[in-house]
Formats: sequence, C-alpha cells, structure tokens
Amino acid sequence: MTADSLTKALDAAEAHCLERGEKLTPVRKRVLELVLEADGPVKAYDLLEALKPGPGSAKPPTVYRALDFLMTAGLVHKVEALNAFVGCSHAHDEGGAELFICSTCGAVEERHGAPLPMNAPEGFMIQRSVVEHFGQCANCRPA
Ligand SMILES: [Zn+2]
Ligand SMILES: [Zn+2]
Repeated sequence: MTADSLTKALDAAEAHCLERGEKLTPVRKRVLELVLEADGPVKAYDLLEALKPGPGSAKPPTVYRALDFLMTAGLVHKVEALNAFVGCSHAHDEGGAELFICSTCGAVEERHGAPLPMNAPEGFMIQRSVVEHFGQCANCRPA
C-alpha cells in the first residue's frame, strides 16, 4: 500500500467511524495504520512490539481493545486460523467476510458480500461472520 492510499484509507476509516457515532482515537488509528501497512496478516504481538516506543506506548489491553473496536467497525478482520489480523478496505458493518488463505505463502485475500447465513438459530443476532478458506493462491499453485 502506498503512503497516499494509506492516508486515504485512514481518512475513510475516520469518516466511517464518525458515521457510526464513534471516534477513531489515536491509538485505534495507529493500530489500523499498522495493520494496513503490513503486507500480510499481522499478529497482535507484532502490533504490541511496533507500538512500544513513542507517545502513548500501548499496553496489551489497549491494543486488544483497539483491535476489538476495529473488528466491530468492520475495518479489520481476524484470521482465526492464523490468530492474526488483516485490514479491510470495504468498511462493512454487516455481512460476511470470506478470507482466502494461502497455506504456502500465507497471503490472505478477502472477498466480501457473502450473504449472512439463513440458518442461524432463531433469535440469534450475528455480529460478525468470517469464513476462512484454505488452499493455494495463484502464485503458489503448481501450474
Ligand atoms: Zn471486510
Ligand atoms: Zn501463496
């Protein structure tokens, strides 16, 4: 991601939060920035390391709370299988995200817009759904 598109993504995220009546606080913004900057999925541990020096040096609960916020806001998805996080540029609150995880190079690509499952138990309110698909990406797949 170029510096320019990163700035744009952060601005869009800020607007998205305002629309929801929430604030993208400096630490939330910094965590999102780190996730977006990364080439692939980022572990919470790496975020903690990256946030160590500097103003408001973040303690683990702060980082986890920021990640929770970003997940609920639909700006970040957790890749459960890798226990890592990927940035999302779709800014969606609802609907499923589908993650395609390459087990060779670890690349994660998101497709989204999958419908919410129709067979949820009655009265169950889905807050987030992430479907993880495993396989090999186009680069790694043997020709
Ligand atoms: Zn998404
Ligand atoms: Zn791959």
